[in-house]
Amino acid sequence: MEDLAREARQEKVESQEETTEALLEEGRVFRPLPQLVVDANLNPNDYEDAMKSGRSDLEAFWEEAARELDWFKKWHTVLDRTDAPFFKWFTGGRTNIAHNALDRHVKTHRKNKVAIIYESESGARERMTYYELYRAANKFANVLRSLDIKKGDRVAIYLPNIPEIAVVMLGCAKIGAVHSVVYAGFSALALRERINHAEAKLVVTVDGFHRNGKVIKLKEVVDEAMTASPTVETVVVVQRAGVDIDMSDGRYLWFHDLMDGEPARFETVEMDANDPLYILYTSGTTGKPKGVVHCHGGYMVGINRTLKWVFDIKETDIFWCAADPGWVTGHSYIVYGPLIAGTTTVMYEGHPLFPGPDRMWQIIEKYGINILYTAPTTIRMLMRFGAQHPKKHDLSTLRLLGTVGEPINPEVWVWYYENIGNENCPVMDTWWQTETGMFMVTPTPCNVLKPGSAFKSFPGVHVDVVDAHGEPVEPGKGGHVVVKEPWPAMLTTLYKDPEKYKEVYWSKIPGMYLAGDIATKDRDGYLWFQGRSDDVLKIAGHRVGTAEVESAVVGHKHVAEAACIGVPDKIRGEVAKIFVILKEGVEEDEDTLVNELKDRVRKVLGPIVVIRGITFQDKLPKTRSGKIMRRVLKARELGLKEGDLSTLED
Ligand code: ATP
Ligand code: MG
Repeated sequence: MEDLAREARQEKVESQEETTEALLEEGRVFRPLPQLVVDANLNPNDYEDAMKSGRSDLEAFWEEAARELDWFKKWHTVLDRTDAPFFKWFTGGRTNIAHNALDRHVKTHRKNKVAIIYESESGARERMTYYELYRAANKFANVLRSLDIKKGDRVAIYLPNIPEIAVVMLGCAKIGAVHSVVYAGFSALALRERINHAEAKLVVTVDGFHRNGKVIKLKEVVDEAMTASPTVETVVVVQRAGVDIDMSDGRYLWFHDLMDGEPARFETVEMDANDPLYILYTSGTTGKPKGVVHCHGGYMVGINRTLKWVFDIKETDIFWCAADPGWVTGHSYIVYGPLIAGTTTVMYEGHPLFPGPDRMWQIIEKYGINILYTAPTTIRMLMRFGAQHPKKHDLSTLRLLGTVGEPINPEVWVWYYENIGNENCPVMDTWWQTETGMFMVTPTPCNVLKPGSAFKSFPGVHVDVVDAHGEPVEPGKGGHVVVKEPWPAMLTTLYKDPEKYKEVYWSKIPGMYLAGDIATKDRDGYLWFQGRSDDVLKIAGHRVGTAEVESAVVGHKHVAEAACIGVPDKIRGEVAKIFVILKEGVEEDEDTLVNELKDRVRKVLGPIVVIRGITFQDKLPKTRSGKIMRRVLKARELGLKEGDLSTLED
């Protein structure tokens, strides 16, 4: 019975070709929930107006969004296109993102409100109010001054998901130093490359932290990186795990010693809207990571507006973005966005499966979390362990869910919606990139949702699907994802490589930003992301997205995850090879499964998808941010060089 129901639902959600009206009648899509729409930051009537104004007058639209924030001096030009594609937003404007995230709040009733809830892997918790965070960031800004860090200098931050990372990022922003956060799961080599590329003068790290029941001695990794990092003058070490470490090298100093000696007052430096705030390297899914640069002004406007409208964030919310601050998601939506919004942001240091598969649900219950934002890879992993785990916990405080990072398979979307959101929380599938800084294609709670589709461009954002000449493709046809107009949180360049910035993003389809993904648009204008253009399969002239094949496979009741690659074929050009991870405890024999999976793909996508080989395994190669690295599977399959592996999870 249950299987039948599941099959039926799967059929339902796959029918992206039909119009919303018809689907609504049959209950195949999800209407906005009335209780969410009533007092939403953006209500349905205003949504249409916002879309119109974002289309007819882009600059007026974003100018209105900018007015919501504090500026030391107002801009004279909203969008300067003279040096395109080096677009400049809010030129002439002076501000500081840290002023908007902290300083302005401490003059209001938010002064003693909780800004950060932190939970360690062992279950210890801490809370930091806005005033405490403000004082700590001020102290750290003074520490930076005392270490001779100046405006524009680069500071590498190699810290896990602990409150100090927010203190350090905000302290850097306050003095105008450029931070470069390196995910704490990266190796010494990856860290060193990033430190050296950014020519960082200072590194901030931690003695150790807890992950999956073990202590990771992060400072030791830094020691290794330091053997060939000539630009680094000082390493500041936060004490967290209490492990014994060697501090005898003169470059190493304790964070707490430095902080103790500094006053908690600091006058936040006025920055030009287009002064750099940070460098962040992309995930490296498709190749060598790129050093993306974001600035203070436009970036803060973009993340503030998107967070307010998409997650409908209120200052009374407890918002949990379960990413890591080492990724752009953490920069925009753990640290800066929620703090600018004056809400409470949650940081969990440990592994989502520690000590058991219900850890995340336990955290939601414990803190009464209202909004959960995570990645499909995490949902698929938790789904593998079954719905009995979320059922053990009271998740009724949740009102909105979100995902980011990869296309979410309709089946997984529905599982999330039913088992975590209890059919009360719309799922915001947000498509964006390190480069875009903010959500680009995403619904808001007042839109009708189709599971598996990230909906349409956010108001004031102009994403489209086009062919190789930049012409819009017909509904249902695959094409390149582009952005046709600048947007405020856009990257401003690639660090030390403006030529590459032009070449990678702006040269292939003139006048448009090329995202590197492929998608289709259905007749209602909904976007369906199909994967990376580098990964797309071309079978007998048909372009097939990896996501389409993988979704069909994940729709099978025994499958937890799947990755699809194209392998050369004499007749068809290319055929599909699929790698599958099964759910826990599946006993069916492999031959039967292979046949069932082939049938499924044929049924869902038609006979064009020719499959050569389905293999079962326990793991897939992923980036440390959890994205499947198909290029690695492909290289292994074809016996080619594996390319840059610095971002591969071990
Ligand atoms: P690299 O650029 O180094 O190959 P990366 O693209 O994985 O790495 P990120 O900036 O972390 O680096 O990821 C952005 C990409 O993630 C998008 O281009 C897209 O492929 C994928 N993505 C993010 N969110 C979604 C989503 N909601 N739906 C589909 N794909 C998504
Ligand atoms: Mg990318």
